[in-house]
Amino acid sequence: MLDRLKQLVQKHWGFASFRPLQQEAMQAMLDSRDSLLVLPTGGGKSLCFQAPAVALGGTTVVVSPLIALMKDQVDGLQACGIPAIQLDSTLTPVERRSYEQDIRDGAVRLVYVSPERLGTPDFISLCRDIDVRTFAIDEAHCISHWGHDFRPDYRMLSRIKDIYPKASVHAFTATATEQVRADICKELALRDPLVHVGNFDRPNLTFRVLRRGDQDRQVKEVLERHRGEAGIIYCLRRTDVDELHAQLTTWGIKSRAYHAGLDVNARSRAQDAFINEECDLIVATIAFGMGIDRSNIRFVLHTSMPKSIEHYQQETGRAGRDGLEAECVLLHSGADVLTWKAILEKSAREPSVGPDFLPNALRHVEDLDRYARGAVCRHKALVNYFGQEYDEPSCGACDLCLGDVEKVGDALIVAQKILSCVARVRERFGVNHVISILRGEDNERVRQYQHNELSTYGLLKDQAKNVVRDWIFQLIGQGLLVKSEDEYPVLKLNLASWEVMKGNFTKVHLLQPVSRKKSEKVKQSRADETSWIGVDRKLFDALRAWRFALAKEIQKPPYVIFSDETLRQLARVKPATPEELRAVRGIGDAKLRTYGALVLAIIKEHAGTGG
Ligand code: ADP
Ligand code: ZN
Repeated sequence: MLDRLKQLVQKHWGFASFRPLQQEAMQAMLDSRDSLLVLPTGGGKSLCFQAPAVALGGTTVVVSPLIALMKDQVDGLQACGIPAIQLDSTLTPVERRSYEQDIRDGAVRLVYVSPERLGTPDFISLCRDIDVRTFAIDEAHCISHWGHDFRPDYRMLSRIKDIYPKASVHAFTATATEQVRADICKELALRDPLVHVGNFDRPNLTFRVLRRGDQDRQVKEVLERHRGEAGIIYCLRRTDVDELHAQLTTWGIKSRAYHAGLDVNARSRAQDAFINEECDLIVATIAFGMGIDRSNIRFVLHTSMPKSIEHYQQETGRAGRDGLEAECVLLHSGADVLTWKAILEKSAREPSVGPDFLPNALRHVEDLDRYARGAVCRHKALVNYFGQEYDEPSCGACDLCLGDVEKVGDALIVAQKILSCVARVRERFGVNHVISILRGEDNERVRQYQHNELSTYGLLKDQAKNVVRDWIFQLIGQGLLVKSEDEYPVLKLNLASWEVMKGNFTKVHLLQPVSRKKSEKVKQSRADETSWIGVDRKLFDALRAWRFALAKEIQKPPYVIFSDETLRQLARVKPATPEELRAVRGIGDAKLRTYGALVLAIIKEHAGTGG
């Protein structure tokens, strides 16, 4: 069976090999053994239920939370020559009856439905009539209230096992900590499930965290690095989206705005323009992104902090799904934590919200804040958060490993200065005041307490406020200093603080931003350097233009035709015959038939022009 599966994948999708855990996940489905597969975004989860659905014959039901998400997958399957449909609220009664007839005739391998539709008597009797044996649950974390994206309508899925006792259920998610994983298995009532958890690292993503300062300049720098490429800029509030969108327009940069305050039509126009590659830049709240399968997103920029590492991982996960390099930049500021606290406290006062909500939500915010202020490799920090080990000494793809920041040479002395300042003010003042003293500021509060007379006054007078603040938080992160949990938090010392001051503990690490001259470029990650090697950029652009025009004509998103990875490979190996073309990853039989001649003509023409 597995061999047949491999052949099918080769035939329809043009993939010669499996990604990690795909084979295992597919085997579970072929064996009708309940399963849970956790793979990061872009890991290739959809293939894990799509390919077995074709191999098994009959009909597999796929539950998915959003219409847009289903539509993308159904389009993609049809383009690969696989009979798939979606049953959703946008269908007319006539269309629905005709689709249902196709299903009864056994002509449909995959049926996509929403959780609500799954629970309707009509759909249940349809499934019983055709004896559905396989259910795939996409975005399965939506069933868990421990997660970050709980959807009440997913609770209905707990009945699948009751309604269809002979069927196997297969859950898929990108985001799951230990607790959420257990919750999914329990809520779906999976029987002795096979659980596979993939590697959470996305080596092709470069992570950077910048202290938010001159935001306009920071945004411009990122955009300049990615000119002509696709990206998403996430903002916290709707007004932030509108302001930034207007600002970009005054700079002559084309973008679309997207947030829940826009009407449905404006939103779907913006989303379609982005998917169809008519527009390459979206400024959005987190309302944007679910169901965006565009695989060639080259950067994701957060102008403020999302509310959890899970969200961050999901939003950055939209970058580089084609496996090619992409950059994720987070502009971070301590002020965002306070904003989130205010927002969450307000939500917590709503009557429908349980008592677990607030502490759980605050913990998620603080975890992300700690990540942003951290001094460990970003890849390592993220992977560790999801309960996995990361052994590489350097990832070669984060601000810390690429040397955007450097170690402070006399970290111990700097730490001693900060800690003794906290001691001098008798552990009774907050971060801002301690910074004022260390920097020797002359302000009212300092004068009021005569803190300009302290021996620690002005000890770090050459340092920027943000840098000193960072150091304080880095010391807190290393357990060498404590911030109290009161309403007006103050800095406190612990035993370790005293060991540092006495010089008994010397392993203190502090980081500071590297001062970069304007002319110097930000370093590229390893993936960035290699993935364009051997690619004829002119040919790549020609192929991309062809794909864009064709997509418009057939009214499908461009990536349904070919991914950027396939285009780069074409522009690298420049196939001259159908056989050579078929050997390129991402070109299966259907696509060879449909587009082969066109692609060969473009390559030939390009060679003729001396390319
Ligand atoms: P996920 O649902 O896990 O986020 P997708 O299913 O959207 O990921 O897959 C991400 C990308 O990887 C898609 O462009 C898909 O075509 C591609 N892909 C999946 N499996 C393979 C494979 N075995 N070989 C090559 N590309 C693959
Ligand atoms: Zn790193």
